Amino acid sequence: MKRIVILGSTGSIGRQTLDVVSSHPERLRVLGIAGRNREALAVQAAAFGVPMVGLAAEGEPSGMAAFGEGTRLLRGPQALVDLATHPEADIVVVATVGRAGLEATLAAVRAGKRVAIANKEVLVMAGAIITAAASAHGATLLPIDSEHCALWQCLLGEEPRGVAALVLTASGGALRDRDPATLDAITPAEALRHPTWVMGQKITIDSATLMNKGLEVIEARWLFDVPFERIRVVMHPTSTVHGLVQFADGTIKAQLGVPDMKAPIQFALSYPERWPASAPDLDLTGAGPLVFAEPPSGRYPCLDLALRAGREGGTYPAVLCGADEVAVELFLDGAIRFTQIPRLIEAALDAHVPGDERDLEAVVAADAWARAECLRLAKSVNGARL
Ligand code: NAD
Ligand code: MG
Repeated sequence: MKRIVILGSTGSIGRQTLDVVSSHPERLRVLGIAGRNREALAVQAAAFGVPMVGLAAEGEPSGMAAFGEGTRLLRGPQALVDLATHPEADIVVVATVGRAGLEATLAAVRAGKRVAIANKEVLVMAGAIITAAASAHGATLLPIDSEHCALWQCLLGEEPRGVAALVLTASGGALRDRDPATLDAITPAEALRHPTWVMGQKITIDSATLMNKGLEVIEARWLFDVPFERIRVVMHPTSTVHGLVQFADGTIKAQLGVPDMKAPIQFALSYPERWPASAPDLDLTGAGPLVFAEPPSGRYPCLDLALRAGREGGTYPAVLCGADEVAVELFLDGAIRFTQIPRLIEAALDAHVPGDERDLEAVVAADAWARAECLRLAKSVNGARL
C-alpha cells in the first residue's frame, strides 16, 4: 500500500489522480489533499476518507481545525509544505499549477520523498535548485507530464551516453488550423477548445500558444540531464506518440497510448511495477496514420521565447514562467489579446537583468519582478505598445 499526498487535488490532474486511486484501492491510499476550493476538497475528503486536508485559500487563517469526521484541516501557505513533508507520505503528487507548487515541491525533495510532478512551471523556474536538492537528499522525481513519462519509459534500461536526442511531440493546440491573420480576434473560449486533451485553463492556453511545449523542453532538460541542444519538438496532431528517444546507433524508441493523463499518472504511482490500466487501450489499427512535421517557423512565437529563455538560462526561465502566468490570466480576463501574450513575455525577457539559477532568492525575485513588469506594461500603455 502506497500512501500519497496530492497537492492541487481539485484540478484536472488532481481529479484524475483520484480516479487512478479509485481503480487501485488496494494499492493506493490518500493521506492528504490540498487546494484552494474548500467545498471541492470537502467532497473529495469524504469520498476517499482522507485524514488531512490543506486549504491554501487567500484570507484563510493559518492553523488547524476540524473538517468533517476523521479529517484534520491545515490552513494557510504552510499547509502544502506540511503535507508534502509528512513522514507517512510515500509519494507526493504535485498537481498545482504555475508558481504555486514551488515551496512545497522543494520541501518534499529536501525531505527525500518520491515526488510525482505535473506542475512543470516549478521545474522550469527552479530546475537547477530542485535537481541539486534531489541528489543531495535522495529524492526521486517522477514525471507525470505525458511527454516526459514517455521519454522516461523509452530511457529505462538505457545508458545516458547512448542517448542522441529527446523528441517531444506537440499537437499544435486549439488554434493550429486557424489562419494566423485571425489570431488577433481569438476569444478565450476558442483558445480553450483543445483538440486532443481536456486540461486546466492555463495549460490549455499554453498549448494554443505552444508555450507549453517550450516549457516542456526546459522541463526535459532538468528531468533527464540532457543538454538543451539535444531536445527537439515535432508536430504530431493526434497525440498518439507522446515522446521519442533517438540513440547513438540510430534507433528510435517511441511510447504510444491514448491521450489520457490517467496513464502517465498511474505509471508515476506504480513504478517500477505496471498495474492494470486506468485509461482505455490504444486501438493500434484504428489510430490512423502517424504524422510528424517540423513546427512551422514564425507561427508560434511563445515556443521561440521559451527556447530562448532555456538557452540563456539563469533566471530567464523564471521570468518566462512569471510573465506567461500573468499574460495568460490577462488574456482569460479579456484584458489583452491572444497575440499580445508573446509580446508581453518578450518585453519582460528583454528588460530582465539575469541572476544565478542556483540561487532560490534570485529565482523567486525574478518571477515576482516579471509579474509586476507584465502588469505594469499591460496597464501603463493600455496595450498600445504591445
Ligand atoms: P488546474 O488548474 O486544473 O488545477 C490546479 C490545481 O492547483 C487546483 O486544484 C487548484 O486549486 C490548485 N492550486 C492553484 N493554486 C494554488 C495555490 N496557490 N495553493 C494551493 N493550490 C493551488 O491545472 P491542471 O490542468 O491540473 O494542471 C496542473 C499542472 O499539471 C500544471 O502545471 C500543468 O502544466 C500540468 N499538466 C497538466 C496536464 C493536464 O492534462 N491537465 C497535463 C500535463 C501537465
Ligand atoms: Mg505535456
